[in-house]
Amino acid sequence: MSPAVTITGLHKSYGDLEVLKGIDCEVEAGEVVCIIGPSGSGKSTLLRCVNLLEQPDQGSVVVEGVELTDPDVDLNAARRGVGMVFQQFNLFPHLTVLENLTIAQRKVLGRGKAEAEGVAKANLKRVGLAGREGSYPAKLSGGQQQRVAIARALSMEPGVMLFDEPTSALDPELVGDVLSVMRQLAQEGMTMLVVTHEMQFAREVADKVLFMDGGSVVEEGPPGQVIGNPQHERTKSFLARVL
Ligand code: ADP
Ligand code: MG
Repeated sequence: MSPAVTITGLHKSYGDLEVLKGIDCEVEAGEVVCIIGPSGSGKSTLLRCVNLLEQPDQGSVVVEGVELTDPDVDLNAARRGVGMVFQQFNLFPHLTVLENLTIAQRKVLGRGKAEAEGVAKANLKRVGLAGREGSYPAKLSGGQQQRVAIARALSMEPGVMLFDEPTSALDPELVGDVLSVMRQLAQEGMTMLVVTHEMQFAREVADKVLFMDGGSVVEEGPPGQVIGNPQHERTKSFLARVL
């Protein structure tokens, strides 16, 4: 079987600043790949290239057999296969939880109200928020809002989920609930690409860890190797700062 995500020779610059200097990465179906590394190393840019929020300058991104970087690809169709969860939850503040979860299903997937609401409710339950359909985001804690954002992404039934520091904006006591939802998704076999500073999570859940620095993957391998026994000086000094 071909990998769920294949990133090959990805380059991206902003003006003179080369942010991605040739990234290669494969994520097998059902695998969790965690990306770690210092601020400014290009982690968010890499994720944003995987769902084409950014257009890479060079290289290719193939998600579930569809080359997103093919100029002839139907971008909207291709993006539907990739769910994204950001550090800032980006919920619509003027919509209820249920409306947040159904709007894209209805507008993008063309689902009817009943079907969209059924899918939304099932996914709310999955993230431990059954019964919160009528709440507005402002009435929820940050951890609950992030779980709504995860349920919203899941409601589009993507083949791959991208997470960009999903717990970095949360108060420490709210981080655990979000991580346990992600852990459960991983156990259910969801293919996930996760940028995180949660080294314990990466150690326990990741099949593979990529350490990025200065726009390159410096070191990659199973978590016990990259986090537990790093070989490169830059990985060692990064881990010494975050662990
Ligand atoms: P990370 O997520 O690892 O912190 P980013 O991918 O956000 O890193 O950023 C990598 C580098 O690219 C940083 O130097 C950042 O300032 C720069 N950068 C990111 N987005 C843009 C942009 N839209 N325009 C110009 N520079 C950007
Ligand atoms: Mg970032």
